[in-house]
Amino acid sequence: MAILVVGSMAYDTVETPRERRERQLGGAATFFALAAGADAGVRAVAVVGDDFVESDLELLASRGVDLAGVERAVGPSFHWSGRYHDDFIERDTLATELGVFADFAPEVPAAWRASEYLFLANIHPSLQGHVLEMVPKPRLAVLDTMNLWIETTRDDLLAILPRIDVLMVNDSEARLLSGQRSLAAAAAAIKEMGPQRVVIKKGEHGALLFGRDSVLAVPAMILPDVVDPTGAGDSFAGGFMASVAAAGADRDSDDAPFREAMLSGTVTASYVPEAFSVEGLLNRNPDDHAKRLRTLRSMMIP
Ligand code: AMP
Repeated sequence: MAILVVGSMAYDTVETPRERRERQLGGAATFFALAAGADAGVRAVAVVGDDFVESDLELLASRGVDLAGVERAVGPSFHWSGRYHDDFIERDTLATELGVFADFAPEVPAAWRASEYLFLANIHPSLQGHVLEMVPKPRLAVLDTMNLWIETTRDDLLAILPRIDVLMVNDSEARLLSGQRSLAAAAAAIKEMGPQRVVIKKGEHGALLFGRDSVLAVPAMILPDVVDPTGAGDSFAGGFMASVAAAGADRDSDDAPFREAMLSGTVTASYVPEAFSVEGLLNRNPDDHAKRLRTLRSMMIP
């Protein structure tokens, strides 16, 4: 079992109502890979600049992430900067400095082209399409995207949706992509575009799985405090994908392993807002994960 992720490795400057942190480790692929965990066998394809701190790569490697697909290019690493509103949910993007990410041409190492599980993190859909050409037959391909691509490169996105199995987006992205207000109608419209399953993330309100023949609504864990939610969505995806892969599920499986993966994604994501950057993910341990899973189940089943 191996999970291939293609996406950003970045430095994030994050401003919350309480604190500002500059250039901390971030990026969709980073959060995803650390969230999926050492047992998942994550292979990362990304580009970092010459300013990317060696110890950050070492951290990923020490957590079992194979970095053979991470290219180091000359120039600055991708830098994202955002400011959270008072609710710690809504956020404004203040800057997206692409740096070496602007010329990112993902190259999947030959030995990785038979990877069984593929997560296409949020990058330009034509690049996601390029990866799908290099990895044509995964057991399962999951794709994330964002408002920017839905608005500016819609046709590129529509062209690849028939080739993926699960679309994972947040509620506003689902509405924007489908033109539907109701999330049930949005998911149905998105399924018509290609993917068999749609996961809609709703931040502190949980997440919905529109499966092949069932729907599941999972609440978010109730957290006593939120420090920095950046990366929670990508970490949900990491936990989800690790669970699906551990179950050996594929696109033809019934909904059961995907329903279970929703719980795993929810618990995994719950560690992220507790600290800045990847700190919350690093502080996890299996016992605590299992405890949170029990709490989550008890919240759902009286
Ligand atoms: P999330 O909070 O799960 O939406 O993920 C936030 C992470 O996505 C941050 O660590 C950013 O570095 C990264 N990110 C933000 N904008 C982009 C973008 N346009 N392309 C790729 N990654 C991005």
